[in-house]
Amino acid sequence: MRMTSECVVQHWHTTFLEVSVILRSKPTPFVGLLTEIVNQGKLVSDEIIINLLSKRLETGEAKGESGFILDGFPRTIRQAEILDEVTDIDLVINLKLPESVLLEKCLGRRICSECGKNFNVASINFKSENGRPGISMAPLPPPPQCVSKLITRSDDTEAVVKERLRVYNEQSQPLEEFYHLQGKLLEFDLPGGIPESWPKLLEALNLDEHEEKRSAAA
Ligand SMILES: [Zn+2]
Repeated sequence: MRMTSECVVQHWHTTFLEVSVILRSKPTPFVGLLTEIVNQGKLVSDEIIINLLSKRLETGEAKGESGFILDGFPRTIRQAEILDEVTDIDLVINLKLPESVLLEKCLGRRICSECGKNFNVASINFKSENGRPGISMAPLPPPPQCVSKLITRSDDTEAVVKERLRVYNEQSQPLEEFYHLQGKLLEFDLPGGIPESWPKLLEALNLDEHEEKRSAAA
């Protein structure tokens, strides 16, 4: 949910730390090795990640950054435990979508082989179910000049997406309980794409009044 994180960052004027980006950007003796590891999608040791992250947080604090949002980290209980030793996390937002919707959305991704732009041909209309509100996500169709040049990324296959979900359920889902027990977990059922989700997320964070004032002032 990178786009949602970017919206939150804009709203709060916080710093968006995407861990894979930090790993690629940090100029350390590790960097060559790290770039190689990250690009290959291999696991970087928790100690290396935390080491780089805490240095990045220190630098940010020295520059007067008022806060930060981590996206894509921590992914395991072990990482969360080490993270607790280097910084205080105020809130964890669990952005939730049913697996069937995630799968459909991933399988709908297309890239134009000529201009490189991303599109999505999936049209999601998920009926409300067991108290979970319905979800609607409009497709992001390509313009006419791109239609004949669309390709699918090799890892946007059902098998790969299902494997990612399996790894999430095995390694990352226990984090929900971990942060719930710390009283920091906010569960958020995504109602759709960013236009549908953003106002509801602000509401869930009790930031919607603030948003209205800002809009009125703009
Ligand atoms: Zn194109």
